[in-house]
Amino acid sequence: MLKEDIPVVSLARNKNIHEAVISCLDNLNIPDMTGKNVLLKPNVGRDAEPRSGINTNPDVVSAVYTYIKERYNAKFFIGDSPIINTNSQTAFKNSGYSKLLGERELSFLDLDERPPTLKKIPKGKLLKEIKLSGYWNDIDYIISIPVLKMHMHTGASLSFKNLKGLIYRREKISLHHLQNSDLINQIKNTMENVKELDVAIADLAHIIKPNLVIIDASYVQEGMGPSSGNCVRMDTIIASTNFLAADIIALALTQPEWTLKEVPHLKLISESIQGMPKTQDDIKTIPQNIDQFLNPLEPPPTSITIKYKNVNLIDIDSCSACLSTVFNLLKNNKKFIDENFTPENPLNLAIGKGIKQSDLYSDTFLIGNCTSNLEENGTFIKGCTPVESTILKSIKDNLKK
Ligand code: SF4
Repeated sequence: MLKEDIPVVSLARNKNIHEAVISCLDNLNIPDMTGKNVLLKPNVGRDAEPRSGINTNPDVVSAVYTYIKERYNAKFFIGDSPIINTNSQTAFKNSGYSKLLGERELSFLDLDERPPTLKKIPKGKLLKEIKLSGYWNDIDYIISIPVLKMHMHTGASLSFKNLKGLIYRREKISLHHLQNSDLINQIKNTMENVKELDVAIADLAHIIKPNLVIIDASYVQEGMGPSSGNCVRMDTIIASTNFLAADIIALALTQPEWTLKEVPHLKLISESIQGMPKTQDDIKTIPQNIDQFLNPLEPPPTSITIKYKNVNLIDIDSCSACLSTVFNLLKNNKKFIDENFTPENPLNLAIGKGIKQSDLYSDTFLIGNCTSNLEENGTFIKGCTPVESTILKSIKDNLKK
């Protein structure tokens, strides 16, 4: 990598998060966005409380918008495509974005509203084409503004993973269901924990690249991400024009023991896209010494049983909607579950399209339409995803029998 090509990552910490955004962006050489259609892409994938580490903090997005509109004469848009069964506009409103959505020069886009745009990915290892938002061809500058989160399916969710929200509606789910065991076994020789989902996300980097990323680490999520971990306040902003550099630095601060292999889609991108940094040594940070920003977080558990000793979750190729529903069910009903299940007699739950009969125990709740082909082998709960109250009712009904 030539010296002038070394990516720069700027960091700032301030309880006043608006100030943190300004000082962080002031240190970057931001590519000109004059005359462009600029999409602000926060992570607003769920209907969640503001500043809970689940969606991007609206204060951060507001600070970014104020900063760029003062400097560039462009058309500004904001949008995301949430997980299934979630209305995008409602998710934005309930996450604290009402004031921002009222800005006259910022147009809200429901990215799922228009018919999709099909994009080919000739260089994709697994994913050869994908349906993106119907607005894809209208956007020529992407600012990814993710919230920093641990993630049980992908290790962590950072600036590149946030762009999964540009995929059209249920096409996002299809990434969880791709299968190619030959390819995976081949990659496993050097990356033990890789899955088809990681390869598919990494393949997207051949066609989607944000122009600027601003990682919101004001309130982050540790542990059982993407939606059931603990919220941790860090008051930090990490920004770069190189998305992978920003993601590498975000991991160095929050998971200092990890290498990129712990977030396989990032490792795959570093290997397959030319000129990408491989490690922290390939990146220049401002300030140079980033020790003051270190804030190790609890990693995502490899199995839900580590956290809930009386729950056995069999999760094979589920998508985040079912995973989040199950996590919320466990979190919101811990007392009931502890009163009725033990490590010797656990609550057995199964989610995901990859579940086979041999994975199941005799008394398993099969959650979601993906498990319908096994409905004879347990208690099937239909829906995509079934709501928490329906699952709870089914568990209670079974206990009464
Ligand atoms: S049933 Fe669950 S895992 Fe399957 S597609 Fe629907 S939400 Fe995803």
